[in-house]
Amino acid sequence: MATNNTVKFVINYDPIKGRSLIAKETIVMGEIIFEESPLVCSQFLWNAECKYDACQYCLTPLETAEENVSRLTKECIQLPYVEQCCQTDKCKHVDCLGCGRQERYCSIECRQRARESYHQTLCPSQSETMAINLNKLCQHWKSIHYPPETASIMLLVKILARIKQDATVVEKLQQFSSNTAQESEKFVHILCGDKFQEQIIILRQIIVDLFPNEEILNPFLTENGFKSLLAIVGKNSQGIGTSAFSQWARNCERLVANNPAECEQINQLIDGLFEKMEQISGCFINTEGSGLYELQSCINHSCQPNSETCFQHNNFILSLKALETINPGEEITICYLDECWKDRSRHSRNKYLQQNYLFTCHCPKCQQQTNDADETSDEEDEDSDLQSNPDDDEAMNCD
Ligand SMILES: [Zn+2]
Ligand SMILES: [Zn+2]
Ligand SMILES: [Zn+2]
Repeated sequence: MATNNTVKFVINYDPIKGRSLIAKETIVMGEIIFEESPLVCSQFLWNAECKYDACQYCLTPLETAEENVSRLTKECIQLPYVEQCCQTDKCKHVDCLGCGRQERYCSIECRQRARESYHQTLCPSQSETMAINLNKLCQHWKSIHYPPETASIMLLVKILARIKQDATVVEKLQQFSSNTAQESEKFVHILCGDKFQEQIIILRQIIVDLFPNEEILNPFLTENGFKSLLAIVGKNSQGIGTSAFSQWARNCERLVANNPAECEQINQLIDGLFEKMEQISGCFINTEGSGLYELQSCINHSCQPNSETCFQHNNFILSLKALETINPGEEITICYLDECWKDRSRHSRNKYLQQNYLFTCHCPKCQQQTNDADETSDEEDEDSDLQSNPDDDEAMNCD
């Protein structure tokens, strides 16, 4: 699924370490190493419930930058340079021809691609049973998977629909690293919470009802097949963030870059608005979703990575960008930890990696800190209480 890549790397396979990406030529700082579209992606269900309007195929925001910032600050905000800098083009937006407004796209092309790859199977207008079961699945998922969301059950459903519409997708799915039964069990536990055994039974039943009599899907709908599929989703989901306001801000900064006085003014405006959005809407700033990316899933973690993933096209296309010069033969790495975890102690980082990804890191930074005392960082104890707490006010504040 890689797009437009002149290949600057090779995929290496090691029986113990698994797959890794190795630079084939010198990659300079700032260079885009590759770009790829996901096998499947989906907006998070809570995020959609909170009215983050995005293309259901590629996650391009469907709201304008002004609508975006006004919704998140709960004020009516007018922005300068919207004509030059806001890229939302409502004239191009279209609804699904079957289910209408329920599935909206940024363009006719996205509607077409969605239909060809999975929506022909999943359109709620297919039958009343399809509509009821999809709704049941989404409601149930939301009841067990509270924000901050990490993956969507819709990834799994879309994979199955893609396989039903095109049997060769099975080969693509096999590219995602397989887990042992024991690892699968752990990833499912992380994804579905402590009552995961009960949850698997409920989720599997609803999904079996979504795809009655589909022989090709049988291997994925047995108890073990279903568990491995859930584990693939749990282990490999990459977060996607898009935002009409952020895109406007980037374009605006570029537009006024040569005018220092105006640049200063615009930066102040942008910073002030980000701050206000943060206050009113918490960490819910972007349209968020997740996807499964074939190449990205081969990249190993380092606490001091030499590359990072970004979404510079403001849709589901992932770009891998070099953070420093990478020499031929050197491994390409990314950091699996988010911003607030990156600077914590070696012990804290590895506790997190072990709990969420089931491995211990031996990167140069960890090796350097190997003699540090086994202390957890101060912030950690506060944070660990916040994980997926259903009573978290912010999580439920969706208006
Ligand atoms: Zn789109
Ligand atoms: Zn539809
Ligand atoms: Zn490390």
